[in-house]
Amino acid sequence: MSEKIIYLDNNATTAVAPEVLEAMLPYLQHWYGNPSSMYDFAVKPAEALKKARQQVADLVGAQPEEIVFTSCGTESDSTAIFSALHRHPDKTHLVTTRVEHPAVKNLCANLENLTGRKYRITQLPVDKEGLIDLQQYRDSLSDDTAIVSVMWANNETGVLFPVEEMAKIARERGILFHTDAVQATGKVPMHLDDSAIDFLSSSGHKLHAPKGVGFLFVRKGAPYMPFLTGGHQEQGRRGGTENVASIVGLGKACELAKANMAEENRKVRALRDKLEEGLLSRVPRAILNGHKTKRLPGTCNISFEYVEGEAILLHLNRHGICASSGSACTSGSLEPSHVLRAMGVPFTAAHGSVRFSLSGYNTEEEVDKVLEIVPGIIAELRELSPFWADINK
Ligand SMILES: *Cc1c(COP(=O)(O)O)cnc(C)c1O
Repeated sequence: MSEKIIYLDNNATTAVAPEVLEAMLPYLQHWYGNPSSMYDFAVKPAEALKKARQQVADLVGAQPEEIVFTSCGTESDSTAIFSALHRHPDKTHLVTTRVEHPAVKNLCANLENLTGRKYRITQLPVDKEGLIDLQQYRDSLSDDTAIVSVMWANNETGVLFPVEEMAKIARERGILFHTDAVQATGKVPMHLDDSAIDFLSSSGHKLHAPKGVGFLFVRKGAPYMPFLTGGHQEQGRRGGTENVASIVGLGKACELAKANMAEENRKVRALRDKLEEGLLSRVPRAILNGHKTKRLPGTCNISFEYVEGEAILLHLNRHGICASSGSACTSGSLEPSHVLRAMGVPFTAAHGSVRFSLSGYNTEEEVDKVLEIVPGIIAELRELSPFWADINK
């Protein structure tokens, strides 16, 4: 089964790397001791946590004490934002963007319910390439701003925001800065020791570690409030017995990402560009969504006008090709993606968007197969589209 799959949905989740699985197995099979226990049998898991913390810190250019292990990217996002709000009970303003992942977007939308306090949220707009206007960002900051939360790379388009520069601007104003770096981790070189970023969220399953483990970078001296209160794990910063095997996997994945980043990015970008250029040249009225260069190497979001993204996915699925679409059928609505809407992508194009996201495990043969199949699928679907018939009259 799995050898027939062409997996182009790596922004949704990734395969666990064989090296990661291998590093994890001893902690599932043998070394199951609780790292907080006093006997020798728990020393090995405790040491494994320490090593993983160093591996994660090395990838992002931080100190190991600045890394808190969490259960996922979503938990990391919440922990960072609530920590800032807790530190500044007098401040009632947050700055974020219109294109954040639901982990930040919906948290901000629900803050009044969650905290019992009213917040004013500035959602910075983006232009048609998905970029932010820095002057508009500067102007949005005020003495009442508790935290800025801006993603490093967008999960739907791959567009990169200049978060290091934005963090500097926030710091000049004495404002805390959080970045959701779930998509950027392992793909963008990071030097947190030389940056003004106070919090950075990430997740294992987007970089070839398992699901259910993530981390939060908390700059030394930044405010912190545990999101899960309980035992003294993570130096009292997150209660709950550590997910040792998964944390070991996350550490290994970070080590691999650091060692292979440049080569992996080059390989993935070449495959992505071949796929992208092939689709844009072979399919009429196909449009790239997102800035051409200020973008992750493996993400490609294309609108095929006058067809439904959902329909394209169903056809791709019949060929064993996994991708994702911008319109959210899972929610039962036909609303196009909030990211594409924020970019002003016209209705007829936003509905026909497909995101292909690649990893180092993809091959040129797979890209060739997709290039062979997609133009036919689009042509077939357009045959059925009354709009398409209209514009081609
Ligand atoms: C996947 C993702 C998340 C959520 O991470 P989980 O580990 O699934 O909670 C948050 N932000 C971005 C940008 C993502 O792509």
